[in-house]
Amino acid sequence: MNIKILRSGDNYIYLIVVDKKAVVIDPASAQSVLATVRESGFHISHVLVTHHHFDHTGGCHELKHAAHCEIVGPAQSSIPGLDREVVDGDIIHTADLDFEVMALPGHTNDHVVYYCREKSVLFTGDVLFVAGCGRILEGTAMEMWNSLQRILALPDETLVYCGHEYTLDNLEFALHIEPNNIDIQDKLEIVREWIDRDKPSVPSTIKVEKLTNPFLRAANEKEFSELRRRKNIW
Ligand SMILES: [Zn+2]
Repeated sequence: MNIKILRSGDNYIYLIVVDKKAVVIDPASAQSVLATVRESGFHISHVLVTHHHFDHTGGCHELKHAAHCEIVGPAQSSIPGLDREVVDGDIIHTADLDFEVMALPGHTNDHVVYYCREKSVLFTGDVLFVAGCGRILEGTAMEMWNSLQRILALPDETLVYCGHEYTLDNLEFALHIEPNNIDIQDKLEIVREWIDRDKPSVPSTIKVEKLTNPFLRAANEKEFSELRRRKNIW
């Protein structure tokens, strides 16, 4: 399995490739995806969408028509061209891999993430970012907290691929919260260098996030809510 990381502004689009079979995660747009698959001779079987926001679904229609693939996403959401609605606990078998669906509300009510257990890979959309988490736009702080706790329960080695490149800002906020945290200091230094060289800061791991992500380090829901409030006005 190979994961190609494509950018559309600060959005990440992922292309998971096994042999010539490809699965797309959250196509903000179709252009770069189609250029990559045409150039490499990949065949897209499925598009997996985490939530209904346009910057995660903007390429769905075009990909569906150009590649004749199936659009998969959460039920009761307004995802363009949705063919298959998924709920918590569903398993999508595609490109010889199984993706488990976890329903993790908070950022939006419909938000799901996709977990490939055999490869230890998690696509978190706008629930968990590297060193941060999504804004609570539709759900409650308690829902977001519970969603993050479910991610925290996954194995330490799990690779985290998130929906946006917000890492530098997130780490600066993290250091503001925990100025003496050496792991945050070290990671900030590395990420500054990556960003300077236009290198993506994904994937992270659950292990690294436990050490550096203030929203996963909060002791309880109250502390989490307070952090989220402070980050909103940061
Ligand atoms: Zn979103």
